[in-house]
Amino acid sequence: MRAVTVKPGVANSLSLVEDQPEPEPEEGAVLVEALAVGICGTDHEIIAGEYGEAPAGADRLIIGHESLGRVLEDPTGTLQPGDLVAGIVRHPDPVPCPNCAVGEWDMCRNGQYTEHGIKALPGFARDRWRIEPQFAVRLDPALGRVGMLLEPTSVVAKAWDHIERIGHRAEWQPQTVLVTGAGPIGLLAALLATQRGLAVHVLDRATSGPKPELVAALGASYHTVPVTKLPFEPDVVVECTGAPTVVIDVMCQAAPTGIVCLAGVSSGGRSIDFDAGALNRALVLENNVVFGSVNANRRHWNMAAQALSRADQSWLESLLTRRLPVERYAEAYTAEKGDIKVVLEFGD
Ligand code: BGC
Repeated sequence: MRAVTVKPGVANSLSLVEDQPEPEPEEGAVLVEALAVGICGTDHEIIAGEYGEAPAGADRLIIGHESLGRVLEDPTGTLQPGDLVAGIVRHPDPVPCPNCAVGEWDMCRNGQYTEHGIKALPGFARDRWRIEPQFAVRLDPALGRVGMLLEPTSVVAKAWDHIERIGHRAEWQPQTVLVTGAGPIGLLAALLATQRGLAVHVLDRATSGPKPELVAALGASYHTVPVTKLPFEPDVVVECTGAPTVVIDVMCQAAPTGIVCLAGVSSGGRSIDFDAGALNRALVLENNVVFGSVNANRRHWNMAAQALSRADQSWLESLLTRRLPVERYAEAYTAEKGDIKVVLEFGD
């Protein structure tokens, strides 16, 4: 069968293997036929040789962590043939740490977790894959064209879950949300914010292309000014750019008792000059919280599945700006201007 693979640590080693062996039964009881994988910034980092780890004993890693597939067989009876499923990306560490021990692998303490298509577990960009039923999430059949958005939605569902838990440390009545970055994560974070009835503002550099309209379609406001020029102080910020200046500016811009969730990952290596003392004053004197958020556990995947079912399906489809068959994998994994989410499709 076909599989999209890389040699982790080696830049531009992306290749389509045509004779990939069928998935081993040890990979899981549920056999799944791949329908599609979504492509994200992490895949680009892995392809650039900057991230990713092959499974023990292998030199290549099958990539793809934003999955959508159809169940072919599940001898455990948990899922039925024909069910639409996505595979949970992260598996708990073997120790396990206190968080992994209770299914909160997104909060792994020792870094020994594994991730499909990213860290030591084969990914989903192959014709067929296997998974244990407890790591398979069933999707509403209506999500057949957009179900690969479940993984990025799980990431923002976790971010919102933690924002709310932090918010409830005191009386909390948030009204205004700022999302920085209108890529897939930012747009999905904005979607979940509108589902919570909040006033949503999205800030991005793009003045043309699909982003302004996608934001307007959510009933949210779109801004292209620097964060410091925004005429309001958000109660919640979901930072999805990882751009150093934006990261610092949103911390200062947040309202008193504001919560800043950092969901974007910086590449590092770029220094900026900023007044750490002023930042300290802004955070302490206003009881602000800044926290990082990555990955998602099963509870968040279920929340994400509900959020996608409630969303306008045509809006979700318009996030998928390019869909390419697996043979055109090289084009799919080459970023183009105007891309929001690129999808690689399997099947004949
Ligand atoms: C994935 C997460 C993963 C993170 C770090 C992201 O692209 O969506 O599931 O935990 O990369 O590897």
